[in-house]
Amino acid sequence: MNNFQNILEHIARDIELVKDRGTVASYIPELAHVDKNKFGMHLIDAQGNHYGTGDSEEGFSIQSISKVLSLSQAFAIMGDKLWERVDVEPSGDPFNHLSLLELEHGIPRNPLINAGALVIADVLISHLENPKADFLAYVRKMANDENINYDMDVAASESKTGYTNYAAANLLKSYGNIKNDVDDVLDFYFHQCSLKMSCRQLTEVFYIFMNRGKCRRGNAFLNINQVKRVNAIMLTCGFYDEAGEFAFEVGLPGKSGVGGGIVALLPNQFCIATWSPGLNVKGNSKLGMIALEQFTTQTGLSIF
Ligand code: GLN
Repeated sequence: MNNFQNILEHIARDIELVKDRGTVASYIPELAHVDKNKFGMHLIDAQGNHYGTGDSEEGFSIQSISKVLSLSQAFAIMGDKLWERVDVEPSGDPFNHLSLLELEHGIPRNPLINAGALVIADVLISHLENPKADFLAYVRKMANDENINYDMDVAASESKTGYTNYAAANLLKSYGNIKNDVDDVLDFYFHQCSLKMSCRQLTEVFYIFMNRGKCRRGNAFLNINQVKRVNAIMLTCGFYDEAGEFAFEVGLPGKSGVGGGIVALLPNQFCIATWSPGLNVKGNSKLGMIALEQFTTQTGLSIF
């Protein structure tokens, strides 16, 4: 296990040779400025040892990765009643797809597509006193890191251009699956997506999913059965219409975001995060997928 550092550095060197780095997301204008040549990779093991390479300590927009964190907070609050509002089936569709939502009468297929995350945002708004501040405090507590913040420019940028999310939220509202004001739900959602973290910070936050629901200081955020469910949802739904490909190539539960981040984990062993802003056609980080495939292939460490 102590050769993790060598393996990460070796993969980072190989990654430098890949010519096609994908396309940086530009539908959120603020994300379009990010340098496509950035690459970082970071791993934390079960004992809390850190291994990192490249730009692994530079913050970036975690975007949809935040959906796992809002799901966790909502699940901790609501327990299994949460599943009356959102299903747990993979969608096989892009993250912003609306058609399944209509077919299923306003019950989104899973909490990691945008429609599902909007319902989760609605649940949190119903239960938290100061939703944005309380959610941020929850994430900071998971990582024991007060430096984690929203990126207000990214949140404002998406709120100006997030037309598909406005459509999804309104559709959900028309089916009665959003209880609060649609604008409040979208405002919360754009902020959660704007959370800025480095690969290192992501591994600290996601440590609880590797460690049976407990953070590094031993505080419980979810029980073991809840962690099982969240990890299952990451495995089957974390990469939208590329979830099968990620399980096939990498073999770990994980989550991606259009900021170019991916975080993945092997229960009881390690949590790993990559960042490369160029995306493939499915909206997942091109080099991140390659790097993680190399990591689990070279180490032989996957859930399979
Ligand atoms: N905030 C983005 C959106 O709603 C998140 C998408 C993603 O990271 N896949 O479109």
